[in-house]
Amino acid sequence: MSNPSLLILPGDGIGPEVMAEVRKIIDWFGAKRGVTFDVSEDLVGGCAYDKHGTPLHDATMAKAQEVDAVLLGAVGGPKYDTLDFSVKPERGLLRLRKEMDLYANLRPAQCFDALADFSSLKKDVVAGLDIMIVRELTSGVYFGEPRGIFKEGNERVGINTQRYTESEIERVARSAFELARRRGNRVCSMEKANVMESGVLWREVVQKIHDAEYPDVELSHMYADAGAMQLTRWPKQFDVIVTDNLFGDLLSDLAAMLTGSLGMLPSASLGAPMANGRPKALYEPVHGSAPDIAGQGKANPIACILSFAMALRYSFDMGDDATRVEKAVEQVLADGVRTADLMGPEGGKPVSTSEMGDKILAALDASL
Ligand code: NAD
Repeated sequence: MSNPSLLILPGDGIGPEVMAEVRKIIDWFGAKRGVTFDVSEDLVGGCAYDKHGTPLHDATMAKAQEVDAVLLGAVGGPKYDTLDFSVKPERGLLRLRKEMDLYANLRPAQCFDALADFSSLKKDVVAGLDIMIVRELTSGVYFGEPRGIFKEGNERVGINTQRYTESEIERVARSAFELARRRGNRVCSMEKANVMESGVLWREVVQKIHDAEYPDVELSHMYADAGAMQLTRWPKQFDVIVTDNLFGDLLSDLAAMLTGSLGMLPSASLGAPMANGRPKALYEPVHGSAPDIAGQGKANPIACILSFAMALRYSFDMGDDATRVEKAVEQVLADGVRTADLMGPEGGKPVSTSEMGDKILAALDASL
């Protein structure tokens, strides 16, 4: 059998710095676990524009379509702010998402006990939290037609259209149910069926897929506004939440912030299964290129490392090893190791990006 293949796109700003720590962990798997990844590396974002005049070269796009998974750092930076919209660094990322048809965006909100004090909520509300938000990523009000600003009589009107087909709802519902089976086996679907027809259809279709294909998974429905309240009141009641593009945008940011720093948040975007049964997949930290700290060794690599752990779990069927990486991160945090973004008011000496990576490697060694 061929080695699992991975395309690494470090990108701009702190992207290459945090990705260097992931490379150490990939090498660790080769040396200590006998799992060798076929890794190729390429450019995306501003650095690709600098070299090729485009934020994503066609050859890189083609490579992304061939590999088992893509791991991306971050794109963008002030140097590129004045570029034409069509060649801005973010267009490279959008092209990847669009051409790989990545319709399910997975955003875990996991609170490591050692960081529970970082949340704006009470410690017992968030300690041990582990939920997953599945956001539909390729349709809904961000893409529906008609859209635009039109003249109507004496004034202008801004229009966006919330539009979902049954098949778009079906496929993201399946992603959520599949995920739930690997976790706590519960899905809560959120929409606004009380005031939106698209919500009525969403609820019907999610229920239909559940009854026909996933009767073993516990399914509940909630209006998205009530969901926002419940997420802040008692988030631990949820396991997997599935919702549309707009509500998912808001609810995933809300849930993420329950857990503290941007430097801790991984994500995955999954598409349809490929010929080998693995989903098309792009893994990336939620944070951007952080130009304010780029090149200073201050970036927290954990979000990128946890994104790689998601790749192990969802692209490579290495759930135990994904847990091993997550536990190593948990151990290091419990030991009080902190990058600058995780320093509390009590202060202390932060570790650098590479020191954090080395501590996680040491914890991985200790796990053997
Ligand atoms: P950002 O996420 O880059 O930074 C926000 C703040 O969080 C900054 O103070 C930064 O120092 C801090 N931060 C972010 N990641 C960190 C980490 N790993 N460790 C420690 N601190 C971290 O968001 P921004 O400043 O709004 O955007 C900067 C650039 O990144 C812009 O060009 C933006 O377009 C781009 N961006 C890219 C992505 C992406 O590649 N997916 C996402 C968001 C923003």
